[in-house]
Amino acid sequence: MPQEEKTAARERSEDRYDAQRIEAKWSERWQQDASLYAAERASTKPKFYVLEMLPYPSGVLHMGHVRNYAIGDALARYMWMNGYNVLHPMGWDSFGLPAENAAISANVPPREWTLRNIANMKLQMNRLGFAYDWSREVTTCLPEYYRWNQWFFLRLYEKGLAYRKKSKVNWCPKCATVLANEQVVNGRCWRHEDTLVEQRELEQWFLRITKYAEELLRDLDKLGAWPEKVRTMQRNWIGRSDGALVDFKLDGPTDPGDSTITVFTTRVDTIYGATSIQLAPEHPLVARFTRHNDLLRASVDQLMTEQRKAKELGDIGEIEKHGVNTHRFAINPFNGEKLPIWVANYILMDYGTGAIMSVPAHDERDYEFAKKYGLPIRLVIIPHPANLDETVAEPPLPFTTLDGSLVNSGQFSRLECEAAIKQMSDDAEEHGFGKATVTYRLKDWGISRQRYWGTPIPMLYCDKDGIVPVPEKDLPVILPEKVEITLSGGSPLAKVPEFVNTTCPRCGGPARRETDTMDTFVDSSWYFYRYADAHNDQAPFDSKTVAYWFPIDQYIGGIEHAILHLIYSRFWTKVMRDMGLVQVDEPVQRLFTQGMIIKGGAKMSKSLGNVVSPDEMVARYGADSTRLYTLFATAPDRELDWQDEGVEGVQRFLGRVYRFVAKNASRANSAEKQVASLTPDARKIQRKLHQTIRRVSTDFQGRWHFNTSIAAIMELVNDLYAYEDRVAAPAEAALMADVQRNLVLLLAPFAPYLAHELWEMLGEKRNLLKAPWPKYDPALAKEEEIEIPVQVNGKLRTVVVVPAGSTEDAIREAAMADDKIKSAVAGKKIVKVIVVPGKLINIVVR
Ligand SMILES: [Zn+2]
Ligand SMILES: [Zn+2]
Repeated sequence: MPQEEKTAARERSEDRYDAQRIEAKWSERWQQDASLYAAERASTKPKFYVLEMLPYPSGVLHMGHVRNYAIGDALARYMWMNGYNVLHPMGWDSFGLPAENAAISANVPPREWTLRNIANMKLQMNRLGFAYDWSREVTTCLPEYYRWNQWFFLRLYEKGLAYRKKSKVNWCPKCATVLANEQVVNGRCWRHEDTLVEQRELEQWFLRITKYAEELLRDLDKLGAWPEKVRTMQRNWIGRSDGALVDFKLDGPTDPGDSTITVFTTRVDTIYGATSIQLAPEHPLVARFTRHNDLLRASVDQLMTEQRKAKELGDIGEIEKHGVNTHRFAINPFNGEKLPIWVANYILMDYGTGAIMSVPAHDERDYEFAKKYGLPIRLVIIPHPANLDETVAEPPLPFTTLDGSLVNSGQFSRLECEAAIKQMSDDAEEHGFGKATVTYRLKDWGISRQRYWGTPIPMLYCDKDGIVPVPEKDLPVILPEKVEITLSGGSPLAKVPEFVNTTCPRCGGPARRETDTMDTFVDSSWYFYRYADAHNDQAPFDSKTVAYWFPIDQYIGGIEHAILHLIYSRFWTKVMRDMGLVQVDEPVQRLFTQGMIIKGGAKMSKSLGNVVSPDEMVARYGADSTRLYTLFATAPDRELDWQDEGVEGVQRFLGRVYRFVAKNASRANSAEKQVASLTPDARKIQRKLHQTIRRVSTDFQGRWHFNTSIAAIMELVNDLYAYEDRVAAPAEAALMADVQRNLVLLLAPFAPYLAHELWEMLGEKRNLLKAPWPKYDPALAKEEEIEIPVQVNGKLRTVVVVPAGSTEDAIREAAMADDKIKSAVAGKKIVKVIVVPGKLINIVVR
């Protein structure tokens, strides 16, 4: 093409914001510098550990990931610019069932499938420009990582914190494996919302998380910088209830050692109102009562079936209450009363002791049950009278609050409920038939999974020696490859003789390996410690290095992890602290849970066809626009309803920024260094700049309303366009240089590609990543002020200073608040106040 045309084309292209060209250029540069985002090893700077939850390598990033990482990346960049030694790593939670499913359906080995997905997602992350220190990458499915899971397991076993027992477990038929209690949501599998979880009896490995129940609960108070919602969910999950254990003796002849029923109650103050004892169908005594009573056994079996069904449906509270009278009796130790023993379908063996005292007058469920079966209902608590001489009417039943006093309760009558609970628990303990106690809803963590793609549990079974741990020197127990995987018939590893058959380290005889693998939540319980020292092959990590980086200053992820990952990792930290490995009690100082991304009012899902692909967005609008949109569309903790037009709008804004700097960058090279003697227009721009810096800085340190930060930057750009043609050289050229430079700095955490390009266009040589974050001058950010003379009866008394553009009322108020005016009008009647806005006030007095 002719020379002139070429020049014209080039000029046009320089005017155009070509995100793809800019992002390709910088992406290549950044990839060439492996140390670019590396944390410093020995640094005098203050440290800052910012972390986004590591993804499962499904193969492609979804938009929720992009939002999560865009928040963390903006913060990491902001902290670098503020002079911190930032740790910002990324890794892969890469064990788990989808890899096995892929192996079954596509015949790809899980390891190959997983590593391929990781490679792809890493490319996507790099294309999006996330500033991760890849030298610390952690991949949980590799032996260099999972050997430490095994090492921890051995330590836990030594300390009695890992144990094996046969128990009823949750079984997902689709996953073909056991689930932890935390993985059952409303009776369904956490991965299969349409699949009811079954109960099976299996031998399983458990971690004794209940040993830390009280500390996990108490330390929630230390987590003031966590969302209250997450703390509440954990508090409820741990479910502490304070109550008492009371022994009821069986009436009549009994087997030795089996002569009492221990009841758990949170309301021992109502014990004089107990009119029956209720046992769970699985209570051991029930088996004895039914041994020679086929009729009773049939009824109990029926109750068991009903309970199992209700459990599988999720809410045992909703069950229609049924029971059967055993025609046996137990004796209330407080008053010697004989109470009939019933078996009921709503009493659970795994809550309390599996036995309750039924107090129909003061408990909803007991009331319902007593009405149905005609059991007596006896009032033992009455509400407080509003005042002393008022007689109390009997309350409507059941009366369940603690706000009352005891009646019909022997020596305890007239005590208030709270006091009675204390005294009656003490009394029971004194007489040896009970005591105050605490129970928790939290159960031990079942970690055995009958699947292949997980960490092998490092235990052996020997006919002579029983359970034998694998010696530490033999770690890692490598997960074998080329294993035939099916979802039926139990653990795939059990079908690999080379794996199963081994030698007992104690007796030298034959032994079998454990063929279950660990729950993948073990992997994520401590992975963030490994980032601090990712290549250590002598220990999971070096304690001193971890002591420098921990706690994590800011952790960012989805609320769906509130119970699972976030409770397990707190537990793991406390265990490691007790082993002397870490010094912190809690791993995470501040937690942020970002909102979900939806489209068209619904969660993005393949079946609804409303999935927005990050790759497609990046190809159409660029990484900067895609990222910036996820931050701009709404506050990061809110649900974001995706709009493609919104991304387009963000791209137009970045185009405006690009064109402004492309056109005005040369003005940044002005010889003038001082920003002096500005015109009012220029002063306005300068003020706007300092206000914007203040706004963005405050948002980073406070509520993270990046949407308003970005809106403020947009306003600044609008004002710049309005001002551009009125620049009065040369003094204002220095201002133009200053404002462009700061605009780029402000954009750097949100749109790093464009910011780097513009930084270079401005002739800056220093790496933008660590360029100092701009400071605002409070004086310059202050709204402009004007002086207004105040007259009293036409005579000048004082001058007040008010912000420019103040309302008449505001000016009047300022004048009246002035001391000189106060004394000038003291004791006089104000007839009239004349305000000439922006000019003067005259107060007429008599
Ligand atoms: Zn499942
Ligand atoms: Zn042996």
